[in-house]
Amino acid sequence: MIFYGTNSSRLKDGQLPNVTCPNCKNQTSMTYTVFGKYAYIYWIPLFPMGKINVLECNHCKLTYKLKELPEQIQRKFETEKHTGVPLKHFTGLAIILIGIGYLAYSGSKHKDDEAQFIKAPAIGDVYSVLSESKGQYTTMKVTSVTQDSVYVVFNDYEIDKRSAIYKIDKDANYGDYIDGYTKEEIVSLYNEKSIYNIDRN
Ligand SMILES: [Zn+2]
Repeated sequence: MIFYGTNSSRLKDGQLPNVTCPNCKNQTSMTYTVFGKYAYIYWIPLFPMGKINVLECNHCKLTYKLKELPEQIQRKFETEKHTGVPLKHFTGLAIILIGIGYLAYSGSKHKDDEAQFIKAPAIGDVYSVLSESKGQYTTMKVTSVTQDSVYVVFNDYEIDKRSAIYKIDKDANYGDYIDGYTKEEIVSLYNEKSIYNIDRN
């Protein structure tokens, strides 16, 4: 279960001098408090959702929301208080953006790495491949590399979920039967996406 909702925190208090209270009609000052509303998920503020301004007449103690006061007081308030949106209310959004940036970066780095791996195969490389059975995926592992050839053993297992391939990539799953490919064949299998992922430890 995900806990989310909105909350508010007190951003600023201050005094607004020389205003006429609509209730007691006194020329007085008002004490204001600015609350910042924000959306949160679990305990992390996600993004700000505007502000709530509350003002209290220092004479009669009546409390107003800003929009209930005469326009003249509203304008005075807007020019005298200076409250930015606190950065901490963006925490969650920042975390999400950093996460997306990281995934994009590591994804493109992985593709760069693969381009190197496929050109220079190494013992232990694991190729994720489309199985001959339709809709199934399996792996093959490089056992030796010569000047122009690559030798692999095949995984005895297949899985129907492309991204779950790591579940079957276990030493015990590889058989003893060794097959060979030329390096050109390996590159073309990769280019046509029959080999769709390469892992090197
Ligand atoms: Zn008053």
